[in-house]
Amino acid sequence: MRWVFDLDDLLYGPGRTTCDAFDACLRTWTVERGLFISHEYDVRMAELKNAHRTRYAAIALCQGFDLPFDECIGEIVDTMILDRLALARWALPDDIRCLPGEKVVLSNSPEPFAQRMVRLLGLEHVFSSVHGITPEYPDMKPSPAAYDRVDAPDRQLVMVEDTEENLRVPHERGWRTILVSKNPPTGTSPWIHHYVKTVADIRYLSI
Ligand SMILES: [Mg+2]
Repeated sequence: MRWVFDLDDLLYGPGRTTCDAFDACLRTWTVERGLFISHEYDVRMAELKNAHRTRYAAIALCQGFDLPFDECIGEIVDTMILDRLALARWALPDDIRCLPGEKVVLSNSPEPFAQRMVRLLGLEHVFSSVHGITPEYPDMKPSPAAYDRVDAPDRQLVMVEDTEENLRVPHERGWRTILVSKNPPTGTSPWIHHYVKTVADIRYLSI
């Protein structure tokens, strides 16, 4: 069995606030070092954001700008996000470790950011791999291509998400699907097999 976990707003929160803060930090970091003039940076980021529907993909694709992305990610995540935000860990290692089989992360965040966050959350030994957006793999959930990287037709897969729409393709592929959310499913998402309020509740499900 392979468990595929989302990251933002599932394993920590508030993900959206963290993402916004990260975007702002990245822009400041970039402009302060004179890597781009701000107008040029903003125009290019807006183009990428429109093309890929998310600022995170835009950030990842900024590697095409020749950004020292790993250095940038490290400095911002370590020194700014945890200091400035009340980042909440929404899953303890044992909540995930107790599940039978392999566990991986599939995130729509840039891969270096996702890997850094997993380490910050103390979950690096729980997951065998952490996948995010890269220039080589720019497809994001719920695009079907996004799931190819973790698919394994010979194994039972389980997708764990806080976003209902991101469970539709896994259901079509025969995976089991779990929605983790404070709020119950809308009733218009028949592709959700299980619903729980927290990651810690997953262990009690009959998958
Ligand atoms: Mg999420």
